[in-house]
Amino acid sequence: MTAVKTETSGGAIEIGGLRKAFGANEVLRGIDLRVASGEVVCVIGPSGSGKSTLLRCVNLLEEPTAGTVRVGGVDVTAPDVDIDAVRRRIGMVFQSFNLFPHLTALGNVVIAQRKVLRRGRAEAERIAREQLEGVGLADKTGSYPAQLSGGQQQRVAIARALAMGPEVMLFDEPTSALDPELVGDVLGVMRGLARPGEGRGMTMLVVTHEMGFAREVADRVVFMDGGVVVEEGPPARVIDDPAHERTRTFLSRVL
Ligand code: ADP
Ligand code: MG
Repeated sequence: MTAVKTETSGGAIEIGGLRKAFGANEVLRGIDLRVASGEVVCVIGPSGSGKSTLLRCVNLLEEPTAGTVRVGGVDVTAPDVDIDAVRRRIGMVFQSFNLFPHLTALGNVVIAQRKVLRRGRAEAERIAREQLEGVGLADKTGSYPAQLSGGQQQRVAIARALAMGPEVMLFDEPTSALDPELVGDVLGVMRGLARPGEGRGMTMLVVTHEMGFAREVADRVVFMDGGVVVEEGPPARVIDDPAHERTRTFLSRVL
């Protein structure tokens, strides 16, 4: 059984007129994008097109220059926003896994739950074990990052994000740093998150160069270039029958 996805009126992520400049360099030049609750949107585009900056504006790792970002109906760009509260609702997985080297897999999944959510040790460990089992690492809870492959480390990072109970998950090229044979395990975990056996899948905004994943898992694909959305639509349309020359040129390089 596949998850049934229903559009809800309050989009999980609503980005309107988003601009971001670093000095004179305007990196995002008016982005409008909506990710509905339970929807998976993949963002593709050349290096330097502003994909990471877009994700970083959603969880306020970068402060937008103009425009609005709403997550679950809450305007995260409002001046009085509680940044820590916003970040608790948004899970983020980066290209580099950023695990603490001196903590085991279990310790890495426990620590933010303890420090940020103030969960008790027993509860945090129970949730960490559940999440590590969910990403296929039940037998690695006691391993240190150096004892794990890149793909296993990235799955710990995903478990760590999920343990915080986020409403949405942002992925920034989560498989780009991995050896090719390890990519599949991480994409498999993401596929399971998007399309669980029961219930609604996680709302996901995923920057990736994995066109197979985008074609199979994304509800929509967004092609960005030069800080704007050039085109978006169902994966079969954008990837296999792009409307714009810039999209065709990009795809001819990555496919
Ligand atoms: P992408 O993820 O699509 O490769 P990025 O969002 O990382 O693109 O970067 C887009 C542009 O923004 C690049 O020209 C980059 O140099 C610039 N940029 C990104 N972050 C910063 C920053 N913190 N300070 C200055 N320039 C930045
Ligand atoms: Mg990037």
